[in-house]
Amino acid sequence: MRLVRFYPPRGLKLVRGSMQYVWDEGGNRYLDANTGHGAAFLGHANPDIVEAIQRQAAELMVAGSSFDTPAMEEAVEEFSKLAPGWAEGLVFLNTGTEAVEAAIKMAWQYTGRRKLVALQGSFHGRTMASLSVTWNPRYRSGLPLYGDVEFIDPRKGAGAVEDAVGDDTAAVIVEVVQGEGGVNPLTPELVKAVRDATVRAGAVMIVDEIQTGYGRTGKIWAHEHYNIEPDIITAGKAIAGGMPASAVLARGEIVEALKPGWHGSTHAGNPLAMAAVAAAARHFLRERVWEKAAAAGDTLLSLLSSGLQDVRAVRSVRGRGLMIGVDLRFDPGRVLRCLQEEKRILALKAGATVVRFLPPYMITEEDARAIAGGLRDCLCRVYGC
Ligand code: PLP
Repeated sequence: MRLVRFYPPRGLKLVRGSMQYVWDEGGNRYLDANTGHGAAFLGHANPDIVEAIQRQAAELMVAGSSFDTPAMEEAVEEFSKLAPGWAEGLVFLNTGTEAVEAAIKMAWQYTGRRKLVALQGSFHGRTMASLSVTWNPRYRSGLPLYGDVEFIDPRKGAGAVEDAVGDDTAAVIVEVVQGEGGVNPLTPELVKAVRDATVRAGAVMIVDEIQTGYGRTGKIWAHEHYNIEPDIITAGKAIAGGMPASAVLARGEIVEALKPGWHGSTHAGNPLAMAAVAAAARHFLRERVWEKAAAAGDTLLSLLSSGLQDVRAVRSVRGRGLMIGVDLRFDPGRVLRCLQEEKRILALKAGATVVRFLPPYMITEEDARAIAGGLRDCLCRVYGC
């Protein structure tokens, strides 16, 4: 049987991880700024998460979602402590794209309208509604997607938002820092325009925080940087310390629009993932993870900015917290390979030309120096300085 892979293989077999490091089968250690697309933000084999999973696995792994479990009760209680104040309802799912699907269904059911507005450069997942609000034509081509979607060019600013959002609009969905699209922070004017236009039109504002949320950008939720209160946020990636789990947090009347039977999933809210969500939330709050991400992110961003300023291949260095992109004049494939093979640093691509770093929150100054120095060496080796 031939396994069909979704991404080109990196040619590296990983066998073990501990916090910010992973090891290959030859015993070589790598600094992990890839973290499985950001999912290991709390570190690999974080002892708090491992202990919770082991305990729960021995107690109860499966319970249909119409049953109560202590793991679910604990997950709701602990995760609620880091929810934004305006969010009154919570749904757990398994993956990011499912959370986006549920958020879109909520908006459709709540407003009774159908039109969706998204941004050029967006990424919201690979299932059909999520993909319909995802911009990249490479992911969409040849598929019969949901058609009532208008994409705004974020460079056109507030005017474009006002033109697109009207009384037929169910929702506007945004990432306040576009991740997959190239680590592009939206301007405060644009985010405010989305909030104002959705309030005016009676539409729902969805902030997709699957990549930006849970401390990644230096605040618990990235929309806090913009001083706005949306109607729905989605979360995923690291919320269960690396186990698959996602969530939708919404205003009460919106979450209630999703009536029983309108959504569901066999594994959503399973006790194993819920035990991990509870343990991760306790770890997150005890360690004040977002503050550590903010400090480590400042260090990494300033080392990258100062270390790369004379490197001709670099167009810009940008990001927030520990979500950082280095935009090159070229496809970053050879640089990512050099980082992996020569520097033992794992990173990932974003957009067409960006090297993206999504390290775990506990990276040290020494790790940050290794990333900045390693990238400089690789850029000079591949493109010349
Ligand atoms: N939304 C955003 C902003 C993402 O970055 C991602 C994944 O990278 C998704 C949605 C989809 O999440 P998943 O891959 O867990 O389905």
